[in-house]
Amino acid sequence: NLSDRLERSFKILKGEGKITEINVAETLKDVRRALLDADVNYKVAKSFTDEVKRKAMGMNVLTAVKPGQLMVKIVHDELAGLMGGTAAELKLEGRPAIVLMSGLQGSGKTTFSGKLANMLKKKNRKNPLLVACDVYRPAAIEQLKVVGESVGVPVYSEPDNKDVVAIAGNAIREAKAKGYDVVIIDTAGRLAVDEEMMNEIASLKEAVNPDETLFVVDSMTGQDAVNTAREFNDRLDFNGVVLTKLDGDTRGGAALSIRTVVTKPIKFVGTGEKMEAIDVFHPERMADRILGMGDIVSLVERAQEQFDEKQARELEKKIRKNKFDFNDFMAQIQQIKKMGNIKDLAAMIPGVGKAIKDIDIDDNAFKGIEAIISSMTPKERTNPEIINQSRRMRIAKGSGTNIQEVNRLLKQFDQMRKMMKMVTSMDSSRMMQMANM
Ligand code: GDP
Ligand code: MG
Repeated sequence: NLSDRLERSFKILKGEGKITEINVAETLKDVRRALLDADVNYKVAKSFTDEVKRKAMGMNVLTAVKPGQLMVKIVHDELAGLMGGTAAELKLEGRPAIVLMSGLQGSGKTTFSGKLANMLKKKNRKNPLLVACDVYRPAAIEQLKVVGESVGVPVYSEPDNKDVVAIAGNAIREAKAKGYDVVIIDTAGRLAVDEEMMNEIASLKEAVNPDETLFVVDSMTGQDAVNTAREFNDRLDFNGVVLTKLDGDTRGGAALSIRTVVTKPIKFVGTGEKMEAIDVFHPERMADRILGMGDIVSLVERAQEQFDEKQARELEKKIRKNKFDFNDFMAQIQQIKKMGNIKDLAAMIPGVGKAIKDIDIDDNAFKGIEAIISSMTPKERTNPEIINQSRRMRIAKGSGTNIQEVNRLLKQFDQMRKMMKMVTSMDSSRMMQMANM
């Protein structure tokens, strides 16, 4: 996936302090390719990578974060920002509030109408009314009725009337009379954009003056989705997009393209055929999906929050001089604990992380270790060499552990120091090698 690719192409960068034009070019090629793979429109992908480049250039790379990971985060944040940053709300102010569905046939309008009614019923709106304005196929009205029944929402329909403007008007009157506070109008689509359909939906929009006109689009249609969105938007100037069928293996690139091309927010996503399969659109999550990454972004964020770069440098210096002591060790444990899962995070701490990982200290091991270190005198912490047999006994007693545990920790600590020294001297000799080349 993309985050793996980014990290791979950035391996070469490790140890460099800044992201520069040369080392960013290769990666951005990868980013662009991945975006295209994810159905993002070519032009959108191009301007996107240009923007990422502008942001990434000259950025300082924390010692705690690999440049590849930082790039992933920049790309992620940029993606999320482009898709709207935060989730967009429905504005339902009318009494009744009116929601008009638009979109091609099969995009999921009828299904989404039911999902939305169901959601509103459970949330702020208690009393929605569904309106059948897909009048060309008898089966369409029937379908909406089935949907309505399954979520317990009534459906207004006029089987013999083909005048959708009249039907919608009657439905709104009925809603006012009977106290329905939101009217959701399901409409007919065509297999492709055509004049007749556009005229109908446009006149419907003008007649009912909806609070929300939503454009429903099948995310699996990829590039076509962008063109369809543009045509509907030119004609309807809709308020928001509903991206359906995101439950498949579509990568969601259409979201980015549509958002960029029509500059209208994506408000909901459909994630299945069931009435519960509706989600408010979260740009962050879609960015994750497009990047195909796990929690690497939050990992980087946590590390950036918790990790003091200066402290890390000092620590590295100490390690090089073999001055790493129990105070440092304790500080590291606290830091790791703050950051969460040690297994994932250990590798992020230069030198120390590697060593701890190799010795394989797990989360539970910390309790005893902390108790033992706390029972050491300041002198013992800075000079572990002086901890002889009688001191060990005293520490064991004071910490509520036993002599074996104290011995084990001291042995591990000694091992760790040796390993750290090895790791750091290895790194510096490698650096010398590279410098010579
Ligand atoms: P319409 O012609 O725009 O009204 O589209 P429909 O609501 O009839 O949906 C067309 C097909 O897509 C139906 O078989 C739905 O069950 C299916 N569908 C709609 N939304 C989703 C979704 O989010 N995920 C999946 N997997 N199927 C969906
Ligand atoms: Mg339909």
